[in-house]
Amino acid sequence: MTQGESETLRSIADAVPAALWSSDRHGRRSFVGGGWRGLVGGDASGPADRRWLDAVHPDDRGEAERRFLAAVARGAPLTQTYRMRRNDGGVLWVQETMRPRSDDAGRLVGFAGAIVDVGDLRAGADALRERAHASARLDAFRRSVLGLVDEVLEANDVAVAHRRVLERAIEVIPGAEAGAILVRDDEGDGYRFDAAVGYDLEHLGTIRIPVSATAFGHGFEGRTPRIVKASQMRPELPPGTERILRAYGRLDEIRVALVVPIFVDGRETAHLTLDAFASDEAFGEESVEMARVFAGHVAALLQRRSLESELRRTAYEDALTGLPNRAWFRERLDRTLHAIDGYRTRAALVFVDLDNLKPVNDSLGHWAGDRVLREVADRLRACARPSDVMARMGGDEFTVLLEGPSVGREARALAERILHAFNDPIRIDEHEASVTASIGIALHPSDGVDAEELVRHADIAMYHAKLGGKNDFAFFTPAMQAAPLERLMLEQALREALDRNEFVLEYQPRVDLRDGRVVAVEALVRWDHPRRGRIPPGAFVPLAESTALVHPLGRRILQLAVAQASEWRDRGLGRVRVAVNLSTRQVQHRELVDEVREVLASARLPASALEFEVLESAAMNDVSGGVANLWALKRLGARVALDDFGTGYSSLAYLRDLPIDALKIDRSFVARLHGPGGSDADLAIVRAIGSLGRELGLRVVAEGIEHHVQLRRARDAGCGEAQGFLLGRPVPASEIEPILRSGAIAV
Ligand code: C2E
Ligand code: MG
Ligand code: MG
Repeated sequence: MTQGESETLRSIADAVPAALWSSDRHGRRSFVGGGWRGLVGGDASGPADRRWLDAVHPDDRGEAERRFLAAVARGAPLTQTYRMRRNDGGVLWVQETMRPRSDDAGRLVGFAGAIVDVGDLRAGADALRERAHASARLDAFRRSVLGLVDEVLEANDVAVAHRRVLERAIEVIPGAEAGAILVRDDEGDGYRFDAAVGYDLEHLGTIRIPVSATAFGHGFEGRTPRIVKASQMRPELPPGTERILRAYGRLDEIRVALVVPIFVDGRETAHLTLDAFASDEAFGEESVEMARVFAGHVAALLQRRSLESELRRTAYEDALTGLPNRAWFRERLDRTLHAIDGYRTRAALVFVDLDNLKPVNDSLGHWAGDRVLREVADRLRACARPSDVMARMGGDEFTVLLEGPSVGREARALAERILHAFNDPIRIDEHEASVTASIGIALHPSDGVDAEELVRHADIAMYHAKLGGKNDFAFFTPAMQAAPLERLMLEQALREALDRNEFVLEYQPRVDLRDGRVVAVEALVRWDHPRRGRIPPGAFVPLAESTALVHPLGRRILQLAVAQASEWRDRGLGRVRVAVNLSTRQVQHRELVDEVREVLASARLPASALEFEVLESAAMNDVSGGVANLWALKRLGARVALDDFGTGYSSLAYLRDLPIDALKIDRSFVARLHGPGGSDADLAIVRAIGSLGRELGLRVVAEGIEHHVQLRRARDAGCGEAQGFLLGRPVPASEIEPILRSGAIAV
């Protein structure tokens, strides 16, 4: 190179915006021209190698030097990109290109190189690369979302679908490493984990996070997603919840969370939460936008779930009482029985049927009946344990399924609780309905191996409880199976007995305890069966009462009693009153008063010749018009007595408002006034009723007097009248006439 040539070269080297250098074979460099100064600032003097290395960015220094030395060692060309630090503190990207130089014989003599500022180019390349990445991510994202639609539609279980959404979200959303879907619980003031990825859902599923402890509890409102850094997380959690969240939710490792609120039907219902552990800058705008799309999926799923549960509810729930319905119960019963194997009793079916809903419906309308049913459902719920399965089977029938090793005992206890729960009448505005229940119980597998048999047998047992006088429970026994048929036959036989006039009345005297005067005779019905002889009322009256036969039978009894009383009057056998028992359904019957008036008129007998005996429950049951009927009977001139007093649900306050003349103390109290079973308490009860009667101006009658002791005690307790085998058994009319003639019985 001539002097002129080298001058020319130097001026070129000064002019280009690059640091040019040349080196010997070992790579010892020297800079050519002033390009270096232009690149990094400062001067170009001093050992060039040192200056070069010092100027390379510390992060890239090792790598840049290693590559340079390797190229020198191999005598090979090299192009590399690294960062340099300018003297003014700035950083620039440079590209260094170097080539070996050889002599004419081809021997390596050194290298020549150029370091060029590529800052602008580099930035552009980065942006390009980033754009390429972003579009790949968006592609993956789009594919993922499209795939999700199918998967989610296929998933039967919303929780499973939620997990899929979450997995996909974490897969494609930049920065997301774990996440969860939190759904507001039924109470509405807390959240539960519905799905979790990267965490242990089994543990998280056990906790409930109060709204106040979520991002939303910290003044985060509205629909916008929020990025919450670890430093901003202020969980104020119940201690147990916090422990689990730290352990299984890795609360301490989370650097940043992306929280997207999810709205269903305008209500904030859930959160999608994505977490990053690597950096608290993990989420950018793009992540937020993607998360919104996934949150939309969750919203759609939740909407579907609420729709499904609504549909399920309407298909399986009794709309009136909110209890499960018959269809649901049958399914549940089937499943339960299938799951039980072995011969031990592990399930019991308790069948509950209301005894007197019909009169409520008839007199106050179905609206009142519905009210009663709702109240009944509430009382039943209160009787059952939370684990018991309960349903309304339709009409006035309810069932409870008990499971466990001692269901026999539990079923009995439940039945007793239920009967007790119906002691109090049901209020319907100003009315009160006294509703009782008849209960049948069947055990699995002894009484029925499958659902159908079990239900049928519980039903039969329930019928037995009803036939036995209602307000009672019965366990199924195989002997009962004959009953429904027998019942039908009996009903038919009763009809025929009415046609054939097989019912007769016997009369039992009731006396005044002061002087033994016969104040009344009670008419007691019997069935004179052509083959089976005289059948007592207990064997057929309850059946008649459970059918429409109660009305023709009641009318017949009334006719017989009125005819007898009128005949006795005509024959001058004293002006004795005849007491006629009315069944509850008669008392509540709309036509009762007209019927009584009519029967009396046709026999030309004044109503004052009659006393009606009604059960407490009939009188208390204002709902069905019973009380109005009693008032009407009283206005006619008849008397009214409360029969079997003390066995019903006496609400004493009612007595004041009832049109009654007498209380007939139930035989069970009187019976215990005598003998070993008697107690001071029984005496106290009789005495209390006695003084109650006096206070209210009612006559008090002691029923079932069989012994002198009872007679004396009843009198001491304040009873004014008495009736019982000691004073006279129920006998046919002809046999009571001598007593009527004498008018008194020694007391
Ligand atoms: P009730 O009205 O309380 O009748 C009294 C029952 O006690 C009668 O039984 C009578 O025979 C019985 N009795 C009377 N004194 C004694 C005694 O000292 N000791 C014992 N152990 N028993 C005594 P009965 O005739 O079998 O009637 C039973 C129930 O059947 C009656 O109870 C009544 O509720 C019903 N009943 C009877 N006749 C009629 C009727 O004509 N119409 C309606 N609806 N029910 C009737
Ligand atoms: Mg009676
Ligand atoms: Mg009685």
